Amino acid sequence: MTPRPTARPAPPSLSYELYPPRSAASADTLLRTIEELEPTRPDHVSVTYSGDEQRRDSSLALLDHLLARTSLRPLAHLTCVGSTRAELEQTVAALVRRGVRGVLALRGDLDPGAEPGELRHAGELVELVREVEQRHTAALAAGRLAVGVAAYPTRHPESPSFRHDVEVLLAKQRSGADFAITQVYFRPQRYERLVAAARAAGVTIPIVPGIMPVTDPRRLRTLCRLAGLAPHPGLAAALEDAPGPAERHRAGVAFAARLARAALDAGAPGLHLYTFNEHRAALDLLEHVDLPRVPHVPVALEDLLLPA
Ligand code: FAD
Repeated sequence: MTPRPTARPAPPSLSYELYPPRSAASADTLLRTIEELEPTRPDHVSVTYSGDEQRRDSSLALLDHLLARTSLRPLAHLTCVGSTRAELEQTVAALVRRGVRGVLALRGDLDPGAEPGELRHAGELVELVREVEQRHTAALAAGRLAVGVAAYPTRHPESPSFRHDVEVLLAKQRSGADFAITQVYFRPQRYERLVAAARAAGVTIPIVPGIMPVTDPRRLRTLCRLAGLAPHPGLAAALEDAPGPAERHRAGVAFAARLARAALDAGAPGLHLYTFNEHRAALDLLEHVDLPRVPHVPVALEDLLLPA
C-alpha cells in the first residue's frame, strides 16, 4: 500500500479583538486600526458586545462596517446577562441576516444590582445559538455558525477553583462550542496548565491564547481590576520604570511577544490579540513572533477562465 502523505499541521490562526468606539475621535482611531491590521490577513476579527442598548447598536454597526467595507471576517461577541431568551434569539437571527458566521458566546459581567437575565451561564447561550442556527440552515453553510467561548488560565473571579473552570469549559464544549479563547494571562505556564488540565478532562476543542500587549501602567491596573487578575510584578515594574512612551511601548510589546512565542512553542493553535483598538503594538508584536501567514494571491479574471 502506498503510504499516505503526512498531513501538514495547519498554520497558526491569527485574530484581533476590537471594541465599538465611544466617541468620534476613537472612531477615527478604530478605522485607522482596521486599515492597518487588514493587510496582515487575520482569520477573523472579534467585536466585543454589551447588553447596553447603545453599545449593542455600536457593536452591530462595527460588524456591518467590517462586512461591507473590508475583507475581514467578523466574530461577534454576544453576552446573555440582562437579556431574555427571546431577545437573544432575535439578536442571533439578526447577526446571521447581517452575514456574521461566528459568535463568541459569553455570559458577560454581572454588574451589582443588575438583572441577571434568563440564561445563567455561557453554556446555555451556546445551546441557544445552536437552536437558532437550525432555523437558518439555508443561509448557513452546513447549517452551522462557528461558536467560541471564553476559557480561563487563571481562576475566574466567581469560580471556586481553577478545576471548576476546566469543568465549565468541558460543559461548554458539550453544549456545542467549537473553540475557546483565553482570558488575558501573564505567565506562560498558566496557558500550558490550562491546556493540560483541559485535555486531561476531555476538552478537545482548540484553546487559543488571548494575548494583550499592555504598554501603559494605568491600563495594566484597569485591566487587572476588570479581569480580577493580579498585575505581573515584572511587567508592572518595566512599565513604571521606563523613561518614556517609546521604552514603555517596547517593554510591553516584548513582554507580550514572549508570552505569544511560549504559547506557540507549547502547541497553541494560533493567537488572539487584544488590541485596545490600537494597531501599533499588535503589529510590533507580530514582527517579534514572525507568525507564518498565508500570502495574499491576487487573482486576475484570466486566471478564472478555463484554458481554451
Ligand atoms: P460562564 O462560562 O457562564 O462562567 C461564569 C461563571 O459561572 C464562572 O465562575 C463559572 O465557573 C460559572 N459557571 C459557568 N457555567 C456553570 C455551570 N454550568 N455550573 C456552575 N457554574 C458555572 N464581557 C463582555 O461583557 N463583553 C465581551 O465582549 C466580552 N468578551 C470577552 C472575550 C473573552 C475572550 C473573554 C475571556 C472574556 C470576555 N468577556 C466579555 C468577559 C466575560 O463576560 C466575563 O469573564 C464573565 O464574567 C464570564 O463570562 P463567561 O462567558 O466565561 O461565563
